[in-house]
Amino acid sequence: EMAALTRIGLAGLAVMGQNLALNIAEKGFPISVYNRTTSKVDETVERARVEGNLPLYGFHDPASFIQSIQKPRVVIMLVKAGAPVDQTIQTLSAHMEKGDCIIDGGNEWYENTERREKAMNELGLLYLGMGVSGGEEGARNGPSLMPGGSYEAYQRIEDILLKVAAQVPDSGPCVTYIGTGGSGNFVKMVHNGIEYGDMQLIAEAYDVLRSVGKLSNEELHAVFSDWNKGELLSFLIEITADIFTIKDDKGEGYLVDKVLDKTGMKGTGKWTVQQAAELSVAAPTIEASLDSRFLSGLKDERVEASKVFGPGILSGGPEVDKAQLIDDVRQALYASKICSYAQGMNILKAKSTEKGWGLNLGELARIWKGGCIIRAIFLDRIKQAYDRNANLANLLVDPEFAKEILDRQAAWRRVVSLAINYGVSTPGMSASLAYFDSYRRDRLPANLVQAQRDYFGAHTYERTDMGGAFHTEWFKIA
Ligand code: NAP
Repeated sequence: EMAALTRIGLAGLAVMGQNLALNIAEKGFPISVYNRTTSKVDETVERARVEGNLPLYGFHDPASFIQSIQKPRVVIMLVKAGAPVDQTIQTLSAHMEKGDCIIDGGNEWYENTERREKAMNELGLLYLGMGVSGGEEGARNGPSLMPGGSYEAYQRIEDILLKVAAQVPDSGPCVTYIGTGGSGNFVKMVHNGIEYGDMQLIAEAYDVLRSVGKLSNEELHAVFSDWNKGELLSFLIEITADIFTIKDDKGEGYLVDKVLDKTGMKGTGKWTVQQAAELSVAAPTIEASLDSRFLSGLKDERVEASKVFGPGILSGGPEVDKAQLIDDVRQALYASKICSYAQGMNILKAKSTEKGWGLNLGELARIWKGGCIIRAIFLDRIKQAYDRNANLANLLVDPEFAKEILDRQAAWRRVVSLAINYGVSTPGMSASLAYFDSYRRDRLPANLVQAQRDYFGAHTYERTDMGGAFHTEWFKIA
């Protein structure tokens, strides 16, 4: 039974909401919960009882839910992004008073958050858009939290967030105030784009090792387990190693070989790529990972094409030494990952400048070290790079990362060349390498493209040896 008013409320008790509510209750903050479909309320209350009589109180109607929370009230919403968020805001705000606050914890488009924050402010309500990463497990045991919007609202629940977030030894809880407006949702979106890149690069490493190196699932498990002890140590490498051990429960062999080669998606990766383009920031690795998902979806077309061009890997590549290949692929994966994160950070930096968010990139790397899907030891290095120079133009030119890339460059080129010769596509690794090779060159063939533009469109060009804009009647000279 509820003795007094609760500290906070949570509406939307699907996977994420249910687990985050239990997490908050477990940290000692009495919480009220509500869901449109009331069976989920009862389910959550029952879980709270079973998981240790946690201080969680269920309500079947929005009015008594809101009235059960101490003022000024804070309610976290975890419902499907888009229209359901607007509907839930309407339902809740009808019972709220000036000074109360709503927090959207979903994967929402940042402009929706900014629109809603304005509307809420007109009603005298505060609003936060808070990215929550880590899936079901993270929500229950410690997610990475990316709250943006009203700083006043953030301060009101900071003590809760600091306890509920993932805790990383020596670097603290995985939460920080991100910035104003929709910055929390935007940062979560780019986090997801980076996650697409990581997953694609790992899949390519798998493909090269399996298709060219002929590694078995047992060997792949050993390789990824070994990688997870070094610089690649991360949640995604760890679960990848696990995947190779799982036998098919419906037939012979390993389950991974029976999973259809079609990747789903929910939109945050696409938004990241669209934002990169809007900001004129090159993000080829993240784009390649999105394109790979599109191509994976064309299963039937690919099966037809394989009848025209041959299905498998090409022969005639050089003989490969397995141990050398494994070590080369590890280095190629790491170097490619640096480029992918450089792109993600550049998207964040450009958006921060555009919106005046003042994003602290090193701090973002810190809060991604635990709780979320991209958690990795590697993020420590990014944090350190921004600690050395907060205004770093690109992660690639941080002295430590530059040295790491130089050390791995030969192996990286061997892997990409080998893959090309064998007809194994490595769009992420190749895009990363091309990104590096473009970025490091003081002179690109862009002079020719600009000459062409001036030729057919009189777009003018600048010169290497004098200032000003020039136009030439190219065809008359010829
Ligand atoms: P979800 O499947 O995205 O949404 C289900 C919840 O939304 C239910 O509580 C449902 O209520 C409610 N809902 C849907 N339409 C509604 C409407 N018109 N009015 C009121 N409520 C409505 O749930 P989820 O997977 O837990 O995700 C919640 C949010 O977190 C999403 O934005 C998601 O993208 C994000 N997220 C999810 C994960 C994950 O691993 N699942 C990870 C990070 C972030 P009813 O029960 O009444 O239908």
